[in-house]
Amino acid sequence: MQSRISRRSAIALASSVALAPLVGCGEPAAKGPSVDEAFTALAAKWLDGYARTRPAGATALGDHRFDGEIDDVSTAGRAAKMTLVKETRDALAAMDRTKLSRDNQVDAAMLTEQLDGETFAIETLQDWAWDPLNYSGLAGGALYSLMARDFAPLNERLGNAAARMEKLPDVLAETRKQLVAERVPLVHATTYSGQNGGAISIIDDLILAQSASLGPDDLTRLKAAAEKAKAAIAEHQTWIDTQLAPNARGDFRLGALYDQKLKLSISSPIARADLLAKARADAEAIRDEMFAIAEPLVANSPAMKLLPKTSPAVHRLGTIAAALKLASAQRPPRERLMDDARKTLEESTAYVREHDLITLPDAPVKVIEMPKFQQGVAVAYCDSPGPLDRRLETFYAISPIPAEWTDEQTASFLGEYNSHMLYELSVHEAMPGHYVQIWHSNKHPSVTRAVLGSGTFVEGWACYAEDMMIEAGFGADNPLRRLTNLKMRLRSVTNAILDQGVHVEGWDEATAMKFMTQEAFQEEREAAGKWTRARVSSGQLSTYYVGWGEHHALRKDTQAKWGAEFNLKKYHDTVLSHGSPPARFVRALMFDEPIA
Ligand SMILES: [Zn+2]
Repeated sequence: MQSRISRRSAIALASSVALAPLVGCGEPAAKGPSVDEAFTALAAKWLDGYARTRPAGATALGDHRFDGEIDDVSTAGRAAKMTLVKETRDALAAMDRTKLSRDNQVDAAMLTEQLDGETFAIETLQDWAWDPLNYSGLAGGALYSLMARDFAPLNERLGNAAARMEKLPDVLAETRKQLVAERVPLVHATTYSGQNGGAISIIDDLILAQSASLGPDDLTRLKAAAEKAKAAIAEHQTWIDTQLAPNARGDFRLGALYDQKLKLSISSPIARADLLAKARADAEAIRDEMFAIAEPLVANSPAMKLLPKTSPAVHRLGTIAAALKLASAQRPPRERLMDDARKTLEESTAYVREHDLITLPDAPVKVIEMPKFQQGVAVAYCDSPGPLDRRLETFYAISPIPAEWTDEQTASFLGEYNSHMLYELSVHEAMPGHYVQIWHSNKHPSVTRAVLGSGTFVEGWACYAEDMMIEAGFGADNPLRRLTNLKMRLRSVTNAILDQGVHVEGWDEATAMKFMTQEAFQEEREAAGKWTRARVSSGQLSTYYVGWGEHHALRKDTQAKWGAEFNLKKYHDTVLSHGSPPARFVRALMFDEPIA
């Protein structure tokens, strides 16, 4: 459910190519640069600096100028990032933004928010000192993004992989200097411990396994670099397990810093308390809808006769839970999870095409097993190509069932990701969720906007897509599918409530687990995973619910404005044609409203 494009970690620069259309050609030469030209130049300069200071992320976005480099995680590297932030901020402040084109006004507002976010992370949150997960994505990601897609000849990519592996020992040594064990929360250290070794499987399975085409000298270099990198990862693992984790004493709760983090994560001015009140009201309404579907399904079942005759509220929760049990009983065997996910993707694709709901991508999507270095946080994600690699394939990654899980844990997991839920998952991650949306987004000419894509817009779209498909009739004749759809909707709302519960309201594990399993009907495995995710992230879990509400509101208002002109395909193509900015900017662009 976690989209990896939200708040891109680096950039792709093709400023001269991708940003050129904004300048316009064949027009008479102006006296000096216009405000638009000045902004275009500033955005290009920022993009360039952004890529230089984040080579691993730049690769993922399709900027391959720094494929042999790896991020500088030292104090000096951080200072270089802040210098870029300050210079860009000063230049933006000196510009009369009211004179910019409307599209550039949107990009300027998004850039400002990005600079605010980086300043907050580096100077106030200081997550570089206490969040090791910042670094775990780096080592694995730097190598994975070189090997996952065929953007360049294999031997060239292997050469860059060797260069990065040669630099990895120094990056890990510097990471050990930056992390202050006393500030690191134990759950972060434990999760980091589980992810660190993932880079080794990338080296073995994606790099060494594909190295046969190299000449003898290059092969020798690659193997030596791989040995050095693997030894450094093993050494780092020992440090995590014997130094970092035993001394990890940080508090995982953001507390007073949460409000600011939330605002930056959801890119909306809504106050925390208002968001919580709205979420609680929506959760009640969803449970009402679920009860109406559930009651006729289980009214005469033995399970209902066993329900204690207590309050109507308990009866309502018990009824919904009993009906959901019917859905979770229909699940794939352990080894068929991937195949069944693939089948639901094919069916949803056929349905979208048949009912002409949106323009479909002409670039492929592939269901893959989630790489180990990404496992442990989300169950599934969509990994789209960067804006400059847009013709390459999208990966719909699903986490395999860990070998060490007991039969009971496996049954719980597959009870959650049952045959009905797999449809929701495929709709959300791929069709017409993330895969389709990012494909539309990547067609927008502004690279700045692509790099700064809003996670709230992206997640909101995927959640909206789940509802829209049911409304359009996909599986709607099956009450268990509708019930599962509502359970997913309830999960988005629950994510937002849990986010605040963990970071502000002091929820402990028992409170969080009770809330998720009893009031949101989640299986134990799903809830346990979410309890971890809620502690190692902040703000991100609220993006689903906020974005979902924004997308539904935007469609409702568009329907009113367009009247007889409205149809779903036209609306979907239009709403996704502006890239992935926060929804309020899409609304402003669509309805010609002020951009603020
Ligand atoms: Zn998602």
